[in-house]
Amino acid sequence: MEKIPVGVLGATGMVGQNYIALLAGHPWFKVNYVAASPRSAGKRYREVTDGRWLLPRGYDPDVADLLVEDANDVSRAAAAAGRGELAFVFSALEMDKKEILALEDGYAAAGIPVVSNASANRWTDDVPMLIAEVNPSHAELIPLQQAARGWKKGFIVVKPNCSIQSYMTPVWALLEAGYEVKRIVVTTMQAVSGAGYPGVPSLDIIDNVVPYIGGEEEKSELEPLKILGSIENGRIRKADAPLISAHCNRVPVINGHTATVSLEFGAKKPGIEQVRRIWSEFRALPQQLKLPMAPDRPISVRNEENRPQPNKDRDADKAMTVSVGRIRACPVFDLRFVGLSHNTVRGAAGGGILNAELLKEKGYLA
Ligand code: NAP
Repeated sequence: MEKIPVGVLGATGMVGQNYIALLAGHPWFKVNYVAASPRSAGKRYREVTDGRWLLPRGYDPDVADLLVEDANDVSRAAAAAGRGELAFVFSALEMDKKEILALEDGYAAAGIPVVSNASANRWTDDVPMLIAEVNPSHAELIPLQQAARGWKKGFIVVKPNCSIQSYMTPVWALLEAGYEVKRIVVTTMQAVSGAGYPGVPSLDIIDNVVPYIGGEEEKSELEPLKILGSIENGRIRKADAPLISAHCNRVPVINGHTATVSLEFGAKKPGIEQVRRIWSEFRALPQQLKLPMAPDRPISVRNEENRPQPNKDRDADKAMTVSVGRIRACPVFDLRFVGLSHNTVRGAAGGGILNAELLKEKGYLA
């Protein structure tokens, strides 16, 4: 099979580098277009990232010599698409929200689908916010979005904030098994890589915990309601429940967001062993379709009393599984557990690639 040529906007940043590294040797996609700020534009990818490469693994040698384009210049991407050299882009831009909204619209209007990591379009109500294992049916919004905006080939999908990945799939598995989840109290301990590079100043985070991450609690409380929502009249109507209270903290961990979670169920309450079984047996569309980036098990249940831990469990199953443990009764709500996911892989580039694989299998990406 000839590989699909893809682009990465923000290819030089923390998430962009993860895209470049994870796409090396991908069976379906080949990085053929890289773009970043005007500061990086016009140089070879290796020149820009030499001394700035953040990951232990490298990237495809073909990418090293690609010229970095200015991500603001949609016409360059449109020309590459016209020559058949670019089929869609992953967006990992860090810019002002209005600028990202305008740019992502610009790429889609130019016929280039955008699979985004940025938060700018998460609350655009005709833009699906996908976790491939949870709400793949929201991709059905794509033709409605295209019709409403007059876009022929382009569209925008986003993935949610990295902090909700550590508990959203476990919560979904319980909902799918027929247990209503009424209320959630979640405390996240979020890695420094979640703030991009260079991120939080070292003197603020070493020997410390920062009990505030701007905008993160609102995202953690509201984004799950869009993901659990339904398509109505060409838009996502957000779900009414669960009610979520989130405390988000930055901790001195490099990669891996941990969440401690308490859940309150409706009248029907699962036992601890039942929860363990539901999570261990949970499989979803990416597993059925055997998508290349899909973990074998979306949820990995740890039985040790002191797991999961970021530096031991974040890389499990291609760093794409959500590890859960310490599943026990909650004296205030019904159930407590700890969830952990790799924020720059499952929560960012890996999740974006999985979404693109899903969209390709559903026929939205040629
Ligand atoms: P980052 O390390 O700061 O990288 C930002 C990227 O955007 C770089 O490639 C940068 O290019 C480019 N950029 C900056 N200003 C630009 C401009 N004016 N025009 C065009 N390109 C510009 O940020 P990040 O952590 O990778 O995050 C990228 C996006 O993913 C953000 O929207 C973030 O919210 C989201 N996200 C991050 C995580 C995470 O764990 N880090 C998780 C989920 C989602 P230069 O190198 O040329 O400056």
